[in-house]
Amino acid sequence: MKVGFIGLGQMGSAMATNLVKAGHEVTVYNRSQAKAEPLVKLGARKAASIAEACGGEVAITMLADDNAVAGAVLGDGNIEQALPRGAIHVSMSTISVALPVSLVAVHAKAGQRYVAAPVFGRPEAAAEAKLFIVPAGDSRAIDECRALFDAMGQKTVPMGSEPPAANLIKLSGNFLIAALIESLGEAIALVGKAGIDRKAYVDLLTSTMFPAPSYRIYGGLIAEGRFEPASFSAPLGHKDIRLALAAAENLRVPMPIASLLNDRFLRLLAHGGEKLDWAAVGGLASADADTAPASRTNSH
Ligand code: NAP
Repeated sequence: MKVGFIGLGQMGSAMATNLVKAGHEVTVYNRSQAKAEPLVKLGARKAASIAEACGGEVAITMLADDNAVAGAVLGDGNIEQALPRGAIHVSMSTISVALPVSLVAVHAKAGQRYVAAPVFGRPEAAAEAKLFIVPAGDSRAIDECRALFDAMGQKTVPMGSEPPAANLIKLSGNFLIAALIESLGEAIALVGKAGIDRKAYVDLLTSTMFPAPSYRIYGGLIAEGRFEPASFSAPLGHKDIRLALAAAENLRVPMPIASLLNDRFLRLLAHGGEKLDWAAVGGLASADADTAPASRTNSH
């Protein structure tokens, strides 16, 4: 397919690479243009503007947040104006539930289609084409994008015709992961301060009651206190908790654990955690208990 890919951060670079490798005709755009070079070497075309990346059947955005996505769609020469009628904007970022409501309307007015397709999986999973993709929107549009999803992920699970539903599901999933990061951090601080080997403890958990990938990945990072370089940055993780809380407030759903997580992220960021992986929230309990190795977060 002829695809434009906008947003070559940690996730976008890996995802666009897999589209090129799968034989799609990919035109890439990134605000900091140098990030396009490795993709050009693989055979992608480099666009000098967002509009230049919008000449195909599909334009994918994998930008940081609501601000960046709204900026890429609206305004002079941006996706809304540049994408042909009938073409599809696939928004794969983790954004609010509110923004896609207006994006659906904007694209419909321009005769275009909009699919929300947020993803689960870190950049390492993206590089191996092992993402879990959760699209929602017009079912024909989702079917037309199937080959693209297959090139980027290991499983695609459509969740209906309303794009905001996919974003809410993604936010709820990240809330669960953040909650397990905090609770794993507390459990690891407890056994660690008692002198029990942290890695052996995580191996025990993940080979018995908790074999899920999230426990394995975050248990390993927290046990080692390894929060740099960030694969998913703490500010982006905090964004997701704030967006989940905004959706919860709108729906009148009390989420006391999400409120607590918001404060844990504030604690991390107030102590210089800006550049750390969001797994560093799981190091706070050890820092508070004054026990190694997560006390490394003290220095930030
Ligand atoms: P990232 O590495 O920080 O990349 C962010 C991308 O957004 C870059 O291309 C950046 O451009 C661009 N950007 C940011 N602000 C912009 C603005 N105002 N205008 C234009 N472009 C802007 O982030 P990421 O980890 O790839 O995450 C991308 C999205 O995927 C986020 O919504 C995130 O929540 C979600 N996600 C991430 C993960 C993960 O594990 N990392 C997993 C699932 C979902 P520059 O290069 O010019 O800064």
